Amino acid sequence: MKAEILKINPDHIDSEQMNRAGEILKQGGLVAFPTETVYGLGGNALDAQSSEKIYRAKGRPSDNPLIVHIADMEHLFPIVEQVPQKAVRLAEKFWPGPLTMIFKKTDMVPFETTGGLESVAVRMPDHPTALALIRAAGGYVAAPSANRSGRPSPTTAEHVAEDLGENIDLILDGGMVGIGIESTIVDFTEQIPTVLRPGYISLEMLQECIGEVKMDKGLLASDSKVRPKAPGMKYRHYAPKAPLSIVEGPEECVIDKINSLACEVIGSGDRVGIIATDETFERYPQGIVKSIGTRGEEETIAHNLYEVLREFDQLDVAAIYSEAFHTPKMGQAIMNRLLKAAGHTVITVL
Ligand code: AMP
Ligand code: MG
Repeated sequence: MKAEILKINPDHIDSEQMNRAGEILKQGGLVAFPTETVYGLGGNALDAQSSEKIYRAKGRPSDNPLIVHIADMEHLFPIVEQVPQKAVRLAEKFWPGPLTMIFKKTDMVPFETTGGLESVAVRMPDHPTALALIRAAGGYVAAPSANRSGRPSPTTAEHVAEDLGENIDLILDGGMVGIGIESTIVDFTEQIPTVLRPGYISLEMLQECIGEVKMDKGLLASDSKVRPKAPGMKYRHYAPKAPLSIVEGPEECVIDKINSLACEVIGSGDRVGIIATDETFERYPQGIVKSIGTRGEEETIAHNLYEVLREFDQLDVAAIYSEAFHTPKMGQAIMNRLLKAAGHTVITVL
């Protein structure tokens, strides 16, 4: 099966297009679509076979649950046992938006969708096409990121076609996504709401809205003995083909170190990739240097991260060196993804 690619205009919803895509989902097919975070691979969340198809198409381990996407608040209540007041407050503030919340599920949601768990993750995306598609499909769309398992998440329809073009029915092409990294996940099955995956919505923004919120211990631990609670976070993820190392420390030392590492790779006859910022781009005289954005606007770094990692796959580099990006608001989310992509290879310079 080769996916059809349908160009859509997110500012002007064409109901005929949406009905067609919705019908594919209702019939048990798979449709990739843009959201404000990354492209999602949609299937009917209430249909066990559709969820199994998603796992197969992505090559995703079957213990890694899917996020159920809804378009209207009233659709939350039938699929979860209970919605705590604090979750309602977060929904009022951040939905539609890049926030996923986990609750105990009802029987409506098959275990195939939740990777065998008694809980279900739910999100309302802030993207007109995504919302129209969910409504056209009957209200519940399971949608993990539309990449092959382990690869960087897709931020354009071309990325989706590259990874899944042979395995799904339709790709809705709405151009490049806005945010570029996945949603923040908050678990409400714990006594204290707990962040299982950092994202655009930071811990501070959550705390400001509902008071105490914790970070999952597995996220904070630098060794891999403490397992993160979101099953997906334990897998190597977001990885480019070439080994990626992060170089951390004062800016001048980082630049010197990356230049000397790049020199070694080039000396042995290979190509090397360097991930820099607009501020440091010109400080790297050798290698294939890409700016990921500007430290002055950290959103640009999140927006370009996956695109830059995928670009290096096309360039046949033997190694990639990246600066670290501990930026004030999104730094936790950006570094979480970058560390995973690097398999936690960090070189610290002083
Ligand atoms: P993705 O589909 O690529 O955005 O990944 C979804 C993430 O949500 C993965 O890390 C999953 O392990 C996590 N997740 C989804 N549902 C649950 C759940 N019920 N409990 C814990 N983590 C979940
Ligand atoms: Mg993913």
